[in-house]
Amino acid sequence: MFIVVFLGPPGSGKGTQATMISEALKLPYLSTGDILREAAKKDNDNSVALRECMANGKLVSSDLVNAIVDDTLHQAEFSAGCILDGYPRNLNQAEFLDKNFPDAKVKVVYFDIAYDTLVERVTGRFSCAKCGAIYNKFLAPTKALNKCDKCDSREFKVREDDKVEVLRKRWNEYSKETTPLVDYYTKKSAIIGVDATLKKEAIADKLLEQLR
Ligand code: AMP
Repeated sequence: MFIVVFLGPPGSGKGTQATMISEALKLPYLSTGDILREAAKKDNDNSVALRECMANGKLVSSDLVNAIVDDTLHQAEFSAGCILDGYPRNLNQAEFLDKNFPDAKVKVVYFDIAYDTLVERVTGRFSCAKCGAIYNKFLAPTKALNKCDKCDSREFKVREDDKVEVLRKRWNEYSKETTPLVDYYTKKSAIIGVDATLKKEAIADKLLEQLR
């Protein structure tokens, strides 16, 4: 089993790269953020707590996320491994992954980027409400004003947690909880560093060279 972990702050481009690398290596893509956002849309006590947590830029309980990852990775579709976007996010989760998947080969792609660069990237981010295509009003706008390039829809949406006040909290949470993982995986010689300010094609080429 080959697990490639994408580690980096919100807006570092890790989601985009994780999707590209998943297609190129033919390994399924798993984003804990996507799973939690779906769970938060439901109508139950759990979803209320999830929405509150995510809207405040806080991490969701590791017990819950570990259980989701454990369940998912035991499905046949994931037997060869996967691209993990957004997990592990702290030492508890990294240790859980090691303990429950001791035979997996784990590589960690780490996206390095400054906070000021992130603000522009994240606060410009929006997506098509119909097909989900992702744009950025500063960096990657739609070709025609207010019209999705892919499906021509004129309806767009912004993620609640991409607003600047939430971004600051997510960054603080990331610095406190997730950056210790860089040390953890460096000691295991599992880290591949990425300059997140490079163009996405250049990053993908470099990554594929190192992962293949
Ligand atoms: P993301 O799309 O990866 O930025 O995740 C969005 C939000 O989901 C985060 O701000 C957290 O609230 C929650 N989340 C995603 N992955 C994890 C994780 N591994 N552990 C705890 N919370 C998570």
